[in-house]
Amino acid sequence: MPSFPQTARIDLHTHSTHSDGTQAPAELVREAARAGLDVVGLTDHDAVSGWEEADVAGREHDVVVVPGVEISCSWRGRSVHLLGYLPDPAHEELAAELERTRESRTGRLRRMVERLASAGYPVTWSEVLARSGDVRSLGRPHIADVLVRNGRYPDRDAAFADVLHSRSDFHVSHYAPAPERAIALVRDAGGAPVLAHPFAAARGHTLPDSLVEELADAGLAGLEVEHRDHAPRDRERASRLARRHGLVATGSSDYHGSGKPNRLGEHTTSAAALGALLEQTGGQLLGASP
Ligand code: AMP
Ligand code: FE
Ligand code: FE
Ligand code: ZN
Repeated sequence: MPSFPQTARIDLHTHSTHSDGTQAPAELVREAARAGLDVVGLTDHDAVSGWEEADVAGREHDVVVVPGVEISCSWRGRSVHLLGYLPDPAHEELAAELERTRESRTGRLRRMVERLASAGYPVTWSEVLARSGDVRSLGRPHIADVLVRNGRYPDRDAAFADVLHSRSDFHVSHYAPAPERAIALVRDAGGAPVLAHPFAAARGHTLPDSLVEELADAGLAGLEVEHRDHAPRDRERASRLARRHGLVATGSSDYHGSGKPNRLGEHTTSAAALGALLEQTGGQLLGASP
């Protein structure tokens, strides 16, 4: 397994146009090089289709690409995000699960658009499809972008604060596996599962310590500790839990291009932590040689 110098700048959580980011994978990787990153993880929601383009761009711009995916999960009606690093994309059950979620995302988004349109909001399904181009994994941000373009809201954040949040009357949920199942699939596919932003309060609820403990028992490899949606005391809490359960602590930006204020490299992962994750995977890094 490759190892990285202590000084390596590593950001393990970003989104491209293959989900709800605003930059194509190649553009994102070029931006990562400009931001001084040595390693970037591409973790689109429920999609691995951006890996190939990121691989080519990584070689061109001398950036190591960690191929990943952010798997939407559902736990007691709450949304849980599981990052999977270097799983085999050809693993049939994992690929089928991701496809099932993406299909459900499409149907669910269409229903949300219908609800909004019949209440007079300026959005149609064809606009959402046109706006999102060849996106494989549609989400609420794609509705937000149309509402913004049509002048209803100044930015994605304002749309989420009003009609798009999970407790809005317009909200429709989509299929998502239980986190234990997603962890098992990522492990079976040779990848390392890391729980994303467990204590991000802005999402309306945070996850209990007991869930982290259960997921650690179920095979979790790591916990995202440094993340802009974690208050300082949440970072301490996450860091304590990681130590207690032998989980690798990561940090990342959760970059979405211009869709969110998050900037590449605003939080980073240590070379030692990345090494500890890579040791647990059977996959190949992409992009530049480490
Ligand atoms: P969905 O995947 O369709 O449930 O939508 C959730 C996604 O919307 C998350 O992955 C976030 O990246 C994005 N999101 C959530 N809240 C906001 C916000 N306030 N501003 C911009 N994007 C957001
Ligand atoms: Fe997102
Ligand atoms: Fe997330
Ligand atoms: Zn994310």
